[in-house]
Amino acid sequence: MAMISPTAIIQTIRRPDTRVPPLEPGTRARRAFYSAAPSRPERFFVTTFEDLGLAKPILAALGDEGHETPTPIQAQAIPALLSGRDLLGLAQTGSGKTAAFTLPLLQQLVDKPGKAKAGGPRALILTPTRELAGQVRDRVNAYGSRTTLRAGLVIGGASIGKQKSMIRKGVDILIATPGRLEDLMKQNAVSLDGVEYFVLDEVDQMLDMGFIHAIRAITGKLPQRRQSLFFSATMPQSIARLAHALLNDPVRVEVKTQAPPKIDQSVEFMAKPEKIGALIKVVSEKSFERGLVFSRTKHGADKIVKSLNKAGFAAQAIHGNRSQGQRERALKAFKSDAIRILVATDIAARGIDIRDVSHVVNFDLPNVPETYVHRIGRTARAGAAGVAISFCSPEERADLRAIERLTGERFGGPGAGAEAKKSRPARQSPGAGKRANRKKKRSGTSAAVVREADRTIAGLSFMRPAT
Ligand code: AMP
Repeated sequence: MAMISPTAIIQTIRRPDTRVPPLEPGTRARRAFYSAAPSRPERFFVTTFEDLGLAKPILAALGDEGHETPTPIQAQAIPALLSGRDLLGLAQTGSGKTAAFTLPLLQQLVDKPGKAKAGGPRALILTPTRELAGQVRDRVNAYGSRTTLRAGLVIGGASIGKQKSMIRKGVDILIATPGRLEDLMKQNAVSLDGVEYFVLDEVDQMLDMGFIHAIRAITGKLPQRRQSLFFSATMPQSIARLAHALLNDPVRVEVKTQAPPKIDQSVEFMAKPEKIGALIKVVSEKSFERGLVFSRTKHGADKIVKSLNKAGFAAQAIHGNRSQGQRERALKAFKSDAIRILVATDIAARGIDIRDVSHVVNFDLPNVPETYVHRIGRTARAGAAGVAISFCSPEERADLRAIERLTGERFGGPGAGAEAKKSRPARQSPGAGKRANRKKKRSGTSAAVVREADRTIAGLSFMRPAT
């Protein structure tokens, strides 16, 4: 079949001068739309969900949710998915990717009505964390609220007995974390034979969390004939190989930086024991509305919460050692503004939809520089500037240099170059700049060597309509 490239769709979105009437919902119409588009791209553009040919109950639910315009990833992915193609998506939370895969999934289940079979779902969505799974389930329920489709959640930390009985009764769509799903498979409590539609979400995080074996075990039980979708924020070789193994001639969609988020980044240099005092200073500032504080370890996150609470600031933590209930309560309290500070580890925080934070504080610097970009992207609020403050102790300087290389930012501090301008009051030794310059010459580091592909990650947290 002739293919329209995502770029072509986006180009047509930008040229709303030759509008064609919305297509009638229906698979044939959509197939025609998708295959005819390349030859006459100027006549096909997508500005509304109606243009995508979604069924009325789904359009009505989108109306309930206040979603008027497809985001770029939705405009690119939905037509491809409705035409039956596999999909490789490079996008992260904030791009609207959940709706990008959920809407066509619902549409296809509605198009081919069949009762939810006892013992196994028709659609399977795998996510790395419990929080993200819960969030996806909520979105599926919202977008499918006017259909009769049923969605179920299978995650660790919740009663496996209840999950077994839910599967026995029958669900159309199962949203699961890999570990718990594997447990259920081992106990013959779920069958994947009837899966028509398979989504792997946040694959890079799944691999970071060591889920590769579970993913292999799960995909090994899926039927050969299925539609598969694969979403990841980054695409290193290992992930590209996995995608190649799991997908059949996929359409690739990528959300590139649209507008760089306005993030005021700075680094404060200090010894480790000084960090708590510095954090209390930051959260006491007038401009601090609500913030995410990142700790490298679970134990560290608990210690930070204790110190904040002792200083009179309501804060809670989310990390892997907290029970499911505690994690959910902390998130809810933060989202409802009952607390203004959430302390998190990367694994617990990634992928979940926590935005609209005024400040991100890197209490500890991450040792994977890409993680820095993911963290600070949480402050990139629609239009408003965000603040990202990082505390850097002497042991963390190498991590900071790696972040500088990736982002092209120069934060200065001891051991940094003369162009450094971003640090907050730094305890810098005399001559540090010169030393750093010599070092920089040796290593050849400059903003120019920042990999463009990596930099684009920073701009993905946007919700700009495709106009
Ligand atoms: P996601 O990237 O899937 O985590 O979505 C991030 C947020 O964007 C969620 O809160 C969605 O409800 C919201 N969202 C998704 N699609 C749209 C849209 N087309 N218009 C407005 N908001 C949207």
